[in-house]
Amino acid sequence: MKKLLLVFILFSFFRSGHAQSDSAVIRSLFNAALTNHESYEQLRYLCKNIGGRICGSPEAAAAVEWAAQTLNAFGADTVWKQEMMVRNWKRGEAEYAFANSRVMGKAELTVCALGGSVGTGKQGVMAEVLMVKSMDELRKMPPSKVKGKIVFFNRAADPTNIYTFASYGGAADQRVNGAIEAARMGGIAALVRSVTLQNHDYAHTGVMRYDTAVTAVPALAISPADAGMLEEWLQIDPLLKVFLRNNSVELPEVPSHNVIAEIRGSRSPDTVIVIGAHLDAWDNGEGAHDDGVGVVQVMEVLRLFKSLNIKLNFTLRVVEFMDEEVAQRGAAKYAEYAANSGEFHLAAIETDRGGFSPRGFSFDAGEKVSAALEKWKPLLDDYGLHLFYRGGSGVDIAPLKKLGVPLLALVPDSQRYFDYQHAPTDRFEAVSQREMQLGAASIAAMVFLIDKYGW
Ligand SMILES: [Zn+2]
Repeated sequence: MKKLLLVFILFSFFRSGHAQSDSAVIRSLFNAALTNHESYEQLRYLCKNIGGRICGSPEAAAAVEWAAQTLNAFGADTVWKQEMMVRNWKRGEAEYAFANSRVMGKAELTVCALGGSVGTGKQGVMAEVLMVKSMDELRKMPPSKVKGKIVFFNRAADPTNIYTFASYGGAADQRVNGAIEAARMGGIAALVRSVTLQNHDYAHTGVMRYDTAVTAVPALAISPADAGMLEEWLQIDPLLKVFLRNNSVELPEVPSHNVIAEIRGSRSPDTVIVIGAHLDAWDNGEGAHDDGVGVVQVMEVLRLFKSLNIKLNFTLRVVEFMDEEVAQRGAAKYAEYAANSGEFHLAAIETDRGGFSPRGFSFDAGEKVSAALEKWKPLLDDYGLHLFYRGGSGVDIAPLKKLGVPLLALVPDSQRYFDYQHAPTDRFEAVSQREMQLGAASIAAMVFLIDKYGW
């Protein structure tokens, strides 16, 4: 009997010895991420060999092929593509703009067309400028004051917010709807202060929209430095004129793809945990922080589980979404698939806020999720993950909400993101390997906990 007991104790000891504690598994995920360079080298390839890759471009098509190959190389059980049609906007040749004042002289302005903008025609447009700081200010003006002018939307992103996405949210309306509001009042173009907290001389692009009820007028972003200069000049010489030229065109839609890869779950493969980011990126930079980092982080999560041979109960699915920047067709396509797949989506996690030190996760889900996160907090605290709050997730996974899927987003430090987003500054060199890998390991840790405990 004593012998039997001893065997039992020894057996139990070895069993527990083999089944690692949660904290040991999380530690191993971070160690493996922080000592490996493959994902960072893949980011380098995506940025330097493919570069800016707005939907519909040859670069976006190349990114699709690269993503499929890389996910195969990282050990995915299966990789497949999901086809959808995407818009096909082309910037055209480099934009050109200057201010011309009888008092101040002539100065070139750093501008870029907003995504989706019509062109000015080769001859460009030249007109007096009406500066406004809000949509309301514009709407209250007599149309005679706006007619024939370039409307200059010059409200700066609010620097007093600590979380910079709030500042972005508070200024992006000018970029998205500026052309509609300008045209409605008789303006001939919209010139929009770049949405950033920087004061540098780079123009930030981003999507804008038209309304079929009003004329489509050209919409360009101006660098914050030149927006400041133009404001000063206008105070001295309200009659100065600005010249704008861009040759953007919208070509017929073309097919493109989401790239999907997975590790099949060992216990219940029809239950799925999605981790997603977006493949497309604006054409004026390299799409490093937005969202090359996210793209390779979700690849890295897959690589980590594969290389550490950690068996997951449920299917881990990487979705590299196409067309986040313009019309979110990839997001719609995946949500349509999810609704009809017969699978159960346990969670979806998005990473699209830059490759900066991770601080935690936001979640858009019910009480059970909130309670689970609260319970897991002590396991994540050592890795700088302190922030867990109810909030938005990301536009690529947002359509899964109507299926009742709990949504989460990796939340990195936000201070520098808008220095780069949608600008020529968004280059590989701006990404720290270490911070990026901490983010990947954070997502992996979250996947591990969700897979083990559910909600
Ligand atoms: Zn993005």
